[in-house]
Amino acid sequence: RAVIGVDLGGTKIATGMLDQDGGLLARSQKATAGLQSSKEVISTIVDTIEEVRGQHEIAGVGVASPGMVDSKNGVILNGVNLPDWDGISLQSELEKRLGISVRLINDANAAAWGEYVYGAGRGSQSMVYVTLSTGIGSGLVLDGRLFLGTSSFAGELGHTVIDPGGALCGCGQRGCWETYASGTAIARIANEAIAESAAASQMTTLAAAEGVPVSAKHVFQAAGMGDELANATLEQVIHYTGLGLANIIHSFNPDCIVIGGGVSRAGAAFFEPLLKKTEELVMEPYRGTCKIKPAELKDDVGIIGAAALFVDHQ
Ligand code: ADP
Ligand code: ZN
Repeated sequence: RAVIGVDLGGTKIATGMLDQDGGLLARSQKATAGLQSSKEVISTIVDTIEEVRGQHEIAGVGVASPGMVDSKNGVILNGVNLPDWDGISLQSELEKRLGISVRLINDANAAAWGEYVYGAGRGSQSMVYVTLSTGIGSGLVLDGRLFLGTSSFAGELGHTVIDPGGALCGCGQRGCWETYASGTAIARIANEAIAESAAASQMTTLAAAEGVPVSAKHVFQAAGMGDELANATLEQVIHYTGLGLANIIHSFNPDCIVIGGGVSRAGAAFFEPLLKKTEELVMEPYRGTCKIKPAELKDDVGIIGAAALFVDHQ
């Protein structure tokens, strides 16, 4: 039987049907702009599911949502930018409409499960997934099982504090890992360095040529060109990112950490120094126990991971 995954994004609903081996059989996508009520949103989700389903028999529908999700009760708590959406019992609403089992999880947890079953985490026993994006999201697969925790909120590793006197985070705390190692943080650290420096930087030139502010991408580009300020920024960023990864390794002793998100697109210029730094920062007995790998699944990771909740996996 086939399985279906739905990825609820800020701007679109993306839905796909997979076979038991993770092959994408059909895909449908609809914009959420213009939807006026939760009823309309739910109808739109159902439309995408009906579109991809065709005549297939479906084992279940997994739904990945950003923000806080109560997976046990199938309720969205907050975090999705949709009309009258917070507190919606999405699982039971969809089950009523579809007559198929539905499971709801947070998008980072979905991505973690997707990478574990079909991506860079294949064959791993304990894997931690980290997405370095606008913020930092993460998900835990421990001893072969997706670990959700008491309230299904497990894995908010972006909000572990690495500097109590640090920058204010969107969550209200100071010095969260996310304020040091996300794409947004990299841009902030770079811009602070530029403001404080008397010397010109390639980062400024590259950004100006595109007519945009200096972003994480420019830090990596300029560092590759030998720009001193960019390299100093990168060194700082690698240190902070490695600190977070060392905390993860000490906390969960995973055999593998999979890193996705926009920042991971920097490739070897990011991964090579990061692996080295992390090995330096972990305690001796942990050295060599954990592989750090780039994510393999691309834009459809949310769809794939949510659908994979219904795949018979061993
Ligand atoms: P979102 O947070 O919306 O899911 P992404 O996962 O694409 O988006 O992450 C966006 C972040 O990734 C931005 O901070 C951006 O500057 C950064 N980014 C995008 N491409 C690159 C790149 N090639 N190298 C480094 N950082 C990048
Ligand atoms: Zn925070």
